[in-house]
Amino acid sequence: MHTLISGADALRIPLAVEQVEQFGVYAALLAEWNQKMNLTAITDWEGVQTKHFLDCLVGLPLIAEEIGASLPPKRSLDCIDIGTGAGFPGLPLKIAWPGLKLTLVDGTAKKIRFLNEVARALALENVETVQGRAEELGRHHRFRGQFDLVTARAVARLNTLAEYLLPFVRRGGLAVIYKGPGAAEEFIEARKAIELLGGETVRFAPVQAPMLDEERRILLIRKERKTPKRYPRQQGLPRKNPL
Ligand code: SAH
Repeated sequence: MHTLISGADALRIPLAVEQVEQFGVYAALLAEWNQKMNLTAITDWEGVQTKHFLDCLVGLPLIAEEIGASLPPKRSLDCIDIGTGAGFPGLPLKIAWPGLKLTLVDGTAKKIRFLNEVARALALENVETVQGRAEELGRHHRFRGQFDLVTARAVARLNTLAEYLLPFVRRGGLAVIYKGPGAAEEFIEARKAIELLGGETVRFAPVQAPMLDEERRILLIRKERKTPKRYPRQQGLPRKNPL
């Protein structure tokens, strides 16, 4: 796990031996399960370390800076990862930052089974998995307005994603969105939606994931006002007819 170790070092994210071991078990499970089901296109050892683990960890210093916390933060934060797939970015953030209370959401049952297995094998505490659609869970009182951090990577275009994510964010909390090339264009397209849903963009930061030569931006949106009751709209609409 040399790549992970030196990359985390470059990001100034301290990782103890046990945490590196957890990443190792996670990578092994990813490769194993991927032989039976399609979880991710990337399963080679190097690729998993750079394109998954480090690519997810790159958001951590930005989040910590924005919430004014040291690493790891003193108060435990409630985090929900929407459309997490094989656990990204939620699980790498949780491994690096064990104090997080993490909820992992995906629409697909087989991904939830995988995530349960990873949480068990890594003996992670305070990890809950939920099979469901963002549009439905975001209207449920158990989830709506309940989270300090709401994350997503590679789930939808920004205008759609804003409607998926912002309903979950507690006032004063943050939506943390990982974007690749084309982010600037998507951002212009989504500005109205972000405002309408009660968000205020606080960072639109170009970041450099270690050992990865790809354009990457992290968007931080602070929840300033309550999301109007009519959002999120019913299943499928945020994607088909974005705000
Ligand atoms: N975030 C992961 C997976 C990206 S693939 C990563 O970065 O690798 C997108 C995932 O989002 C899929 O697993 C899909 O099942 C899930 N998804 C897409 N739309 C969703 C929705 N509206 N509600 C819940 N999950 C959704």
